[in-house]
Formats: sequence, structure tokens, C-alpha cells
Amino acid sequence: MTGFRQARWNEPSIFKVGRTKSHGVCSPFSSEDQKMGVDALTRLIPKNLLRRDEPNLPALSEVDVVRHFTRLSQANFGVDNGAYPLGSCTMKYSPKVNDAIANSDKVHWIHPHQDESTVQGALEIMYKLSQWFSEITGMNGFTLQPSAGAHGEYTGALIMRAYHRERGDLERRREIIVPDSAHGTNLASASMVGFHVVVVPSNEKGCVDMDALESAVSERTAGLMLTNPNTLGIFEENILEISRIIHDVGGLLYYDGANLNAIMGKARPGDMGFDIVHLNLHKTFSTPHGGGGPGAGPVGVVEALEGFLPVPTVGRDGEHFYLNYDHPQTIGRVGGFYGNFEVLVKAFTYVLSMGGDGLSRVAELSVLNANYLARKISEIKGFSLPYGSGILRKHECVISCSKLKMDTSVTAKDVAKRLLDFGVHAPTMYFPLIVEEALMLEPTETESLEELDRYASIFAQISREAYEDPTIVLNAPHNTSVGALDEVKASHPRTFCLSWRMRKKQQERKP
Ligand SMILES: *Cc1c(COP(=O)(O)O)cnc(C)c1O
Repeated sequence: MTGFRQARWNEPSIFKVGRTKSHGVCSPFSSEDQKMGVDALTRLIPKNLLRRDEPNLPALSEVDVVRHFTRLSQANFGVDNGAYPLGSCTMKYSPKVNDAIANSDKVHWIHPHQDESTVQGALEIMYKLSQWFSEITGMNGFTLQPSAGAHGEYTGALIMRAYHRERGDLERRREIIVPDSAHGTNLASASMVGFHVVVVPSNEKGCVDMDALESAVSERTAGLMLTNPNTLGIFEENILEISRIIHDVGGLLYYDGANLNAIMGKARPGDMGFDIVHLNLHKTFSTPHGGGGPGAGPVGVVEALEGFLPVPTVGRDGEHFYLNYDHPQTIGRVGGFYGNFEVLVKAFTYVLSMGGDGLSRVAELSVLNANYLARKISEIKGFSLPYGSGILRKHECVISCSKLKMDTSVTAKDVAKRLLDFGVHAPTMYFPLIVEEALMLEPTETESLEELDRYASIFAQISREAYEDPTIVLNAPHNTSVGALDEVKASHPRTFCLSWRMRKKQQERKP
């Protein structure tokens, strides 16, 4: 008994629900008035910019729209439904008060072209947020422009490139070193900026192999990108030595701070020797995440790199806040205007409401929860906790199902799918690549002890099922709105259909 069954609606796309005659707008004007209004507006638009065809929009009544989207939401799963311990993603519960404030009219109705004197409050939010992030990470200045973690990495790599170019050293500094446990975006960002990526292996403790690092560095090294705690949830015990090795050859240290949960208020990348840091506000700082955006990936730098930051940042002159273009070696802009302002507001209200003590408490609880779950699950038959046995994890842990697979043929993927039947979300699977049959769990600080116990007990039940009668696990999920997908088909570009335009193109292509 799983006690969970997801709603199953055979819901067509909104274009199929829509009829042509109905509409959902109640307006005090007659339809004649409306038509006149539209005609008047149309005359204002230059002829060459007018559409030739009527837009192909569905026409629905209000109740049709509400029911359509409510049904879709019931066939979905989110952090508001249940536990979502997706490792390396920090899918924690974001307090609604932060959303409420970011949704206020005062935030919504300001315009980026407004005069500075009329948006002092907004500038103050950005100024203070940059200061707080500097304090939390041990950096000197921040740009709030980047829209995501990968975008922050890209910005950081551009700063590295500009730094080496300014020193006339870019010709030979072509390499960025990345450990084999790194998030895929690190490698992608570095190579998008034109660097070659050199991968160094991890040792048996799950940390950077120091001998391999020593032999990888040279005068070609532009920098190192490191996640710490790394994706195994392990804190790099040699971080100060790593920092010395990179700096000794003239490289820069980049900190992937997508998941800052474990160290907020406890340890600072700046004190570890890092020169550049990005944060994912849509992971750690109260923007719900997983729906594809909007997010924010602010980037912080040490004093020596402040001149390279994208413009503008926000400066302060007494009680006056202003857009600061005084970054002499700036890499330019990396986004429109000043970043995703509503996401910044959520981070601002989150930090303000938590306070310094609250943020340290987040770190303590997220570490406690990850270790509790790591211990409980690794003691269940078929599961283990590879790398660094006896070493405490930070915000996440990576469980291996390789014994379960050997004994019963049930894989990490099967376990992940079966978990869905119990009304919880599966962990990240098959990442990092250095763990076989990996399930990467990040419970976060917002799950209660009861929920963690329940999550572990589901693992115990799946283990029993796998050893007694694996078919139920192998054919999972049974209780979700959609059953097991054809994995190959689901990720094939021909079947991928992410927009109405793509769908129309696909249909045209069919004979
Ligand atoms: C999520 C994540 C990223 C990328 O962040 P996006 O906002 O998805 O681009 C980078 N590194 C790590 C460790 C992450 O967990």
C-alpha cells in the first residue's frame, strides 16, 4: 500500500480545448466598442509590423482555462506536494512570504528606464543584497545580472579571460581545470568562453586527487572551477592547499556556489582562497526552482577583480543609491538591465527574515538531514554509501544501488521510478558519474524528521520488494498520472516538443 494516487486526466492541449466562439473576458464595453478600440490601436501600428494572419489563439471561457490548468497541476509534482530531495538542486520549500513581497505592485510596476531618483528603494535592495552576498561568501563586490548558475559560471569565465588578457597572459593561459565530480555546466561554461577543459580525477575519499592536480597545473592554467562541498556532498579537506597550488602558477579559483545551503554562515569561499563565486538564488535563496525559470546566478569577486564586473552595479553615496558604471576593465553586460529583479527581491526578503543566525541554522539542519538520510538508507539491504566511508557529508549524499542491481537486477532508475508511487519525488540519478548506479539525495533543511523517516522507510519497502518480487519495482511507476516512459523516445529531439511552434513544424513535416 502506498497511499498515493495521482490524478490522471486525459487533458488535451489548450489549443484543442479551445473553441472559436467563446471568450473569457468580461468587459463593461460592448463588443462593438471593443472592436472600435482594437481598430484604433491597429491604426497606430506601422503597416509593416502588423501581422498578416490572425494569431492562432484558442478561445476559452474563464472556467475552461481554470479547469485546464488545475488538471495539469494535479498531474504534476512539486515541492508543495511532497519531499523532493533532488541532489545538487536544493529543491527546498521557499517560504510564501517572499513570493508575496516580490509579487507586490511596488515591485511589479517599476520600469528599468525609470529615473534613478524614483527607484531608490529598488536600488537599495540591490545594493544591500550585494553587500550581504559579499559578507556571506567573503567576496568584495557582486553583479546581480546573470540569470542562472550556468550564466554565472559563464560570467566568471569571462572575468578570468579578461583578467589574463589584461596581464598579457591569455595566449598561454588556455586551460581550466575541473574535477571529475563537477556539474556538467562547469565544463560547458569554460569551453564556451574558449578555454580547454582539463579534468582531474577524485581520490578514494571523494576529494580532488592532489597528485593529479599537481601534474595538471602549469603556466597554461587559467584557473580551477570547484564545487565545495562537492557533488558527493564532501568538503574538500585540502582546499587551502588546492588554492595555493593554483595561485602559485598564476591561476584563479572559481567557486561553484549553486548549492550554498551547507556552509552559509559557517565557512566562506573567500576565506578558502576563491577569487570568483556564483550563487543560485533559485536553489539556496528562496526562489522556487525546477520550472525552468526565472532564476538568478549573481557573481561575486575579490577586490582585485572588481574592475572586471559587468556594468552597472549599484553604488551608494550617503543616502543616495546609483547605478555604478565605474568598472574600468568591465566585461560589459551579461544580461538585460539589472537582472531578474523579482528573484532578487525574494532573496532579499529571505535573508532579511532569516537573519545571520537563521542562515547558519539552515546550514546545520541541511547537513544534519543529509547525514541522517545517508546513514538510514545506506543501512538498508542493497544500498551503500561509496567514497569517504566515515566522512560526514554536507548538504547531500550519493547512495549507490550497485549491490541491489547485482542481487536483483533492479537499477537506480527502477528505484527512482518506484519512489514516485509513494507520493515523493526521486533523487537525482546517475550523477555524479563517478558513482555506479547513483542516487544523489539532498533532503534540505525544510524536511522534518517524520518526513525523512518516511522517505527512508519507502527505500526499505522498495528493497524488500526488489528481493522478494522485483516485477513491481521493474514496472513502476503505477500510481502516477503517466506511467514509465520510453526513455530513448522521450529524449530524442524528434519527439521533443517544447512549444506550439515546434509542434506545428513537426506536423507539417509528417506526410
Ligand atoms: C544547478 C547547478 C549548476 C547550474 O545552475 P543552473 O541555474 O541550472 O544553470 C551548476 N553547478 C551546480 C553544482 C549545480 O547544482
